[in-house]
Amino acid sequence: MSDELQLYAMTCGWLSLPEVALIEGGASEDLRIPVPCYLIVHPRGTALFDSGLGIVCQEQADEYMGDFASLMRVEFLPGEEIRTRLERIDIDAARVDYLINSHLHFDHAGGNEQVSEARLIVQKREWEAAHEPDLIAAIGYKPVDYDLGHELITVEGEHDVFGDGSVTCIPSYGHTPGHQSLRVTLAGGDVILTGDACYLRATLEELRLPPGAAFDRDAMLESLERFRALKARGARIFYGHDPEFWQGVPQAPARIA
Ligand SMILES: [Zn+2]
Repeated sequence: MSDELQLYAMTCGWLSLPEVALIEGGASEDLRIPVPCYLIVHPRGTALFDSGLGIVCQEQADEYMGDFASLMRVEFLPGEEIRTRLERIDIDAARVDYLINSHLHFDHAGGNEQVSEARLIVQKREWEAAHEPDLIAAIGYKPVDYDLGHELITVEGEHDVFGDGSVTCIPSYGHTPGHQSLRVTLAGGDVILTGDACYLRATLEELRLPPGAAFDRDAMLESLERFRALKARGARIFYGHDPEFWQGVPQAPARIA
């Protein structure tokens, strides 16, 4: 295994939903957005940041999606699931060491069952919210995605994944109660994988929140201010679902330098 930290991006399906659902003042037309997952290969092990959609979305999407089915359209072909995306770069999903969920929505944790042996790193407050019946309903969690018996590492605030400061969970609450982002320090500088704390470039640049998808608006704005400060110090911000931005992100097997 190389001594150098490696970061890979993979698209694990696409969702289409009205732009206005993603950003204040957006158009009523659909925006087709990628579902990103990232693999980090570190000398001490492998970590996956989000697992994308579940295979159930290839087979019984409407049934599984329930109320969401009318809100968005899912495109998810066989071969796009995380297990196969990893296989194509010679990584066995069952042997990934850490599975880090930004949060527990279906397009971020739906593939968790394919990464069955990993230790799951999630913010404690996210895990708790996702086991609270009222919040499960209000936030749209699906316990079938994540209640799978993974060995659990619940963290509070920042968490240094490999103990050397190169891969760090950073709290970015607001979209959900315990959302987290990931800072990856590459030879070329820091990359911030924002997840749903920042859907689009315009979310950050114009502070336009998603109207229906901010559990706590104040917390979400604070998270965005922190991303702005990191960006001002030279970090590259990877927006969670920005199709235009995503076009410029090299896909595995190419590495992000
Ligand atoms: Zn989400």
